Amino acid sequence: MSDITFLNSDRWNGKFFLGGWRSAEHARDIVEPGSGKMLTRVGLASAQDMREAARQAKAAQKQWSAMPYEERATIFRKAAVIIERELDHLTQWIVRETGSIAPKAQVELKAAMGILLEAGAMLTQPSGLLLPSNGGRISLARRVPHGVVGIISPFNFPLILSIRAVAPALAVGNTVVLKPDPQTPVSGGFLIARIFEEAGLPAHCLQVLPGAADAGEALVKDPDVAMVSFTGSTEAGRMVGELAGRHLKKVTLELGGKNRLIVLDDADVDLAASCAAWGAYLHQGQICMTTGIILAHENIAGKLIELLTEKANHLPVGDPASQHVALGPLINERQRDRVHSIVQDSIAQGAKLQAGGSFDRLFYKPTVLTEVRPGMRAFDEEVFGPVASVVTFSNDDDAVDLANKTEFGLSLGVIGGSVGRAMALADRIPTGMLHINDQTVADEPHIPFGGRGSSGNGGRHGGPANWEEFTQWQWVTIKDSPPRYPF
Ligand code: NAD
Repeated sequence: MSDITFLNSDRWNGKFFLGGWRSAEHARDIVEPGSGKMLTRVGLASAQDMREAARQAKAAQKQWSAMPYEERATIFRKAAVIIERELDHLTQWIVRETGSIAPKAQVELKAAMGILLEAGAMLTQPSGLLLPSNGGRISLARRVPHGVVGIISPFNFPLILSIRAVAPALAVGNTVVLKPDPQTPVSGGFLIARIFEEAGLPAHCLQVLPGAADAGEALVKDPDVAMVSFTGSTEAGRMVGELAGRHLKKVTLELGGKNRLIVLDDADVDLAASCAAWGAYLHQGQICMTTGIILAHENIAGKLIELLTEKANHLPVGDPASQHVALGPLINERQRDRVHSIVQDSIAQGAKLQAGGSFDRLFYKPTVLTEVRPGMRAFDEEVFGPVASVVTFSNDDDAVDLANKTEFGLSLGVIGGSVGRAMALADRIPTGMLHINDQTVADEPHIPFGGRGSSGNGGRHGGPANWEEFTQWQWVTIKDSPPRYPF
C-alpha cells in the first residue's frame, strides 16, 4: 500500500483514533477481499474504549461549538480540498479494502467532497425562527447541537455512509464518536480521521474506533452520547433502536432495502435493460438501494430478460485492484454463501436461472433469475449480491400490488413512455426515494436520503434533513427586566 506521508498506514497500525492515534489492546488484520492479501492492521475498541471516547468527546464539545463559525467552516472546506488532492491514493484504499471498482470509489470520494462543502455551508445558514409572543418579550426558537453523536456505519459504501453523518453532525456543533464496520475501518473511518486531522479539527471532536457489535452497543447506551445515527441491516437496526429507546436517545436508523424497478409496456426496453443491470450489479449488488426486484410488463419481459441475460453473461468479474472489471468480490464468505443459498433456494422454489448462479472464491457471477414470485427468498429477502430477479405483471394494478409486497420502502424506479402514468403508479407505492425513468441507485450530497417501513425509522440524511437530525429546538425568550407575578 502507498507509503506517502498522508496515508502511511504505519500511523494507524494496531491503533484507533481517540484524541490522536492510540495503541489498542486488541487488533485485527484487514484482508483485501479481491486478493486475499493482508492490507493493514487496525486497533479494535472495547466497551471501555468507547466509554472513554464518549467522555472525551463530551468534554470537547462546548469549546468546539463555541468556535467562530468561519473557523469551523474553514475546516470543512480544507477537508474537501484534501480529498481532491489525495484522490488517487484514497481511491486505492477504497478499491482494495472494499473490493469496489475504481469508478464506484471515486463516486464515493466526490460525494464526500460535496458532503463536506454542504456541511461547511450549514454554518452560514439561518438556524432559528423569530416567533410572535405575549408580554413584550423577544421569543425565538433556535437549533442547538445534541452534544455527542454516536455514528455506526456499514461496509458497503463505508466512506459516504460515515461522512454523511460525521460532517453535518460536527458542523452544527456536536462532537462525534464514529464506529465503522470492522471489515472496512480505513475507508469508513481512518481516512476520515486523517482528513479532519490534517484539516485542523481540534482533538477529541472526532473519535474513530473500529469495533464489532459489542462496541456498537456500548456506544448506543453510553450516558455521554445524546444521539445515534445508525446505518446497517434492519436486523441490527431493530436492536439499536430498542437500545436507544430504552436509554431515551434520539436515533436515526437507515436500514435495508428491497427496491423495485417497474418497467412498463411503453418503455424503451434497451434503456430499461441497461438501467436494470446497473441497478442490480453496481458494487456487486451490495447497496441498500440496489434494484432487488425488476417488475417487467409481460409484453416486454421476454426482450428485457434477453438483454439483461446477455449483459450478465458479458460483464467481467475479478479483482478491481489489478484488473479492469465491472464487478469485484463480495465482502466475505458468509455473505457469498448467503447470496448463493438465496439463489439456490429460489431455484428450488421454481425460479429459473438465466445467467450466473455460481462463484469463484468471493467473485459471484452476475445472476439473472426469472419467474420469481412472492414467497420465494429472492422475492422476499434483501440479497446484497449481484442477483437480478425478474417478476412479470400484466397491468398497472398488478404491478402496484407486487411492488407493495415488501416490508421495505427505500427506493423505487419506474420506467415508461408516459411520465404521468409512471407518477400515478408510483404514488400508490410508499417509498423514501422515487426515480421516474431511472433505476433505484442514486444519491447526492444535498438530498434528504432515507426510507420507509423496515428501511428506517423516518429519519433522513442530507440537505435540510441534517438540521432536523443533528440539532434540536431550543425555545428562548428575552425580556428587558423580570416581571412581577401575582405571588
Ligand atoms: P450490519 O447491520 O451487520 O452492520 C452495520 C454496522 O452495525 C456495523 O458497523 C456493525 O459492526 C454494527 N452493528 C451490528 N450489530 C450491532 C448491534 N447489535 N449494535 C450496534 N452496532 C451493531 O450491516 P451490514 O451487513 O454490514 O450492512 C449491510 C446492510 O446495511 C444492508 O441491509 C443494507 O441495506 C444496509 N444499508 C442501509 C443503508 C441506508 O442508508 N438505508 C445504506 C447502506 C447499507
